[in-house]
Amino acid sequence: MSVQSSLDQQWARVRGRLKDEVGETAYRSWLKPLTVGTLDGGQIRILVPTRFMRDWIRTHYADRIRALWSGENPGVQSVEIVVAAPTRTEPAVNDAAAAPLADSAEEPVAELVIEPVPASVAGGDERADEMSAPLDPRFTFENFVVGKPNELAFAAARRVAESNAVPFNPLFLYGGVGLGKTHLMHAIAWAIRKKDPSRRVIYLSAEKFMYQFIRALRFKDTMAFKEQFRSVDVLMIDDVQFISGKDSTQEEFFHTFNALVDQNRQVIISADKSPSDLEGMEERLRSRLGWGLVADIHPTTYELRLGILQQKADRIGAKIPIKVLEFLAHKITSNVRELEGSLNRIVAHAELVGRAITLESAQDVLHDLLRASNRRVTIEEIQKKVAEHFNIRLADMSSARRARAVARPRQVAMYLAKQLTQRSLPEIGRKFGDRDHTTVMHAVRKVDELCGTDPAFAEDVELLRRMLEG
Ligand code: ADP
Ligand code: MG
Repeated sequence: MSVQSSLDQQWARVRGRLKDEVGETAYRSWLKPLTVGTLDGGQIRILVPTRFMRDWIRTHYADRIRALWSGENPGVQSVEIVVAAPTRTEPAVNDAAAAPLADSAEEPVAELVIEPVPASVAGGDERADEMSAPLDPRFTFENFVVGKPNELAFAAARRVAESNAVPFNPLFLYGGVGLGKTHLMHAIAWAIRKKDPSRRVIYLSAEKFMYQFIRALRFKDTMAFKEQFRSVDVLMIDDVQFISGKDSTQEEFFHTFNALVDQNRQVIISADKSPSDLEGMEERLRSRLGWGLVADIHPTTYELRLGILQQKADRIGAKIPIKVLEFLAHKITSNVRELEGSLNRIVAHAELVGRAITLESAQDVLHDLLRASNRRVTIEEIQKKVAEHFNIRLADMSSARRARAVARPRQVAMYLAKQLTQRSLPEIGRKFGDRDHTTVMHAVRKVDELCGTDPAFAEDVELLRRMLEG
């Protein structure tokens, strides 16, 4: 394979990851037009059509491109963004000063950029193991926002990272997609590497584990494979549900796992379900996985989502009205990845059109996402589902009874009516036995507050919301 075509393939993969991270719109505006130049002395050149884009990519995406690319190819240490027509030939180098009239420059101008993006963002990853997948420099404990839904998982991860002994083995983290499992695992790896660089930490997905195992089988190299895994100090396997039903990989994983635990090495596992709910896993493996500490990450609450948005907005230095953040925290409830994606889209759009971010512009930019979550749900449907869920009579949604057992579900239904329909507070009040709009307002606040303090309750509400939106 030629060097160029393998660079192109790497770029295709990097772009694919970026697309997942930033969302379709930002991807199409910014990343799709980029092309790959050459790789020279560890520096990869990326060609952009305009200066404006060059500056934008440099400040917003270059670090990320570098991190992802060096994950694909450790030979890539820095990224240089160059304005040039997308050709395969080496772009001609212009004297920047000789091109003043091109400054309005929506025209292709070849130009050399002086400062490449530094290779190491977070202390570098030079001694990364070949077995280990690259770590994302943004996934640190500092960047992780803690709230009720994830506090146990966070505390457990911190403990594992900071202890000299092995506090629990394995640490099993589980939760739905996009809730921070991978983030916490990378954070543990960063923290351990920083604290004691001599410890061998390996992080990889279960998929990659399987791939390496199969390759070892094919090349009759299983001894080396076993050696490599069994000599680590900390082994992290992400998304272990992937090996469900894959018997020989499970078998190998089970032996690796046992060997490490027996030698008192730390093992950290993540999955989308608890050990006992992992289908297609051998019983002995399931039970072994649950021996240490099992920590689950619950769906996000409104409060946590808002916290994450604020932190993220601060980090990228974007000025976003609090109203917009609140709006996003209310509307984008699926997971943190989508939440971040929507924020990125809004910021990218505002910069592109050169206008401040407002609630209206945010709604506009996200209309496709919001439409999906605005499926028409009626108040009657909400009342019915909520009554069923809490096992109360539908009539009690409008009755005058004030017992907690019916009042709380009623409040939940009002809250969901406010969130999932376009109805005004007085309209909602009328549907609940002619109650006043202040009663509805109180219900909305109460439910918000409870979601922040009671994870089980938050989960109930989230579940109902999902069923109704479904
Ligand atoms: P999972 O592995 O559980 O599917 P990830 O760890 O990949 O999820 O998280 C998805 C995205 O959301 C990542 O960009 C991550 O940094 C971010 N994220 C998730 N939880 C938090 C949190 N509590 N604070 C900050 N960022 C978070
Ligand atoms: Mg993950």
